Amino acid sequence: MANSGQKVVLITGCSSGIGLRIAVTLAKDEKKRYHVIATMRDLKKKNKLVEAAGDVYGKTLMLLPLDVCSDESVKQCINNVKDRHIDILINNAGVGLLGPVESISIEEMKRVFETNFFGVVRMIKEVMPDMKKRRSGHIVVMSSVMGLQGVVFNDVYTASKFAMEGFCESMAVQLMKFNIRLSMIEPGPVHTEFETKMMEDVAKMEYPGVDADTVRYFKDVYLPSSIDIFEAMGQTPEDIAKCTKKVIE
Ligand code: NDP
Repeated sequence: MANSGQKVVLITGCSSGIGLRIAVTLAKDEKKRYHVIATMRDLKKKNKLVEAAGDVYGKTLMLLPLDVCSDESVKQCINNVKDRHIDILINNAGVGLLGPVESISIEEMKRVFETNFFGVVRMIKEVMPDMKKRRSGHIVVMSSVMGLQGVVFNDVYTASKFAMEGFCESMAVQLMKFNIRLSMIEPGPVHTEFETKMMEDVAKMEYPGVDADTVRYFKDVYLPSSIDIFEAMGQTPEDIAKCTKKVIE
């Protein structure tokens, strides 16, 4: 349970990557300012987080199940937080989707929006009433540079982040008068499982209806140059965790 003076921070998508690192960084804060509720949709994946947290696990860091795509899971998770009191919500959970639009089904596209857009909306709707009542709170959203600029073959992922940016910009105006802050973080490439999962999806990808030039450009030009950009410019999850800590301080 949080000590008085400690801020309660709930983070989504902490099984790996950026979410895991933010959870551990805040839980290990030298001044013990944060009581971290790290959430993940499958608690069987908790080992990496527990190991990284070390002796702060069970002290400044606790774990709850949460699938941002499920209304019931979101409600249950917030109900499990003492008095539903969350000072800082960090919406980190997200999925990528890469490839020519012709090779991606509408169902796959909906899954991306269900997570990256409606997942955030669900979380904000659930925490907002308590934050408004207390007239304080901070909502942080992990967007992307692709929430600001379209990128070829990332059409659907980019669209989901643009939608979220629009939603949050509009919400920020309403929340301001209740003293609730809304911040967006827009990282460039970050070395996480995100990259690995996308490359695995690409390896399984089929290209029905996609013209040969597009397939060739995607495989022979786009993919190798994306890998180069990742290698040359990729940040680490630690970089993004430090930036997130600055944003909430
Ligand atoms: P990871 O794939 O390492 O982490 C994504 C996290 O989101 C995982 O914990 C995953 O859980 C979780 N997640 C996915 N779907 C759900 C769901 N329905 N409910 C709850 N959790 C879910 O990637 P990153 O750490 O890189 O990504 C984190 C965020 O950063 C994302 O929003 C992404 O868009 C954003 N971002 C990433 C960049 C990058 O280059 N890596 C660049 C810019 C932004 P599970 O293990 O169960 O799948």
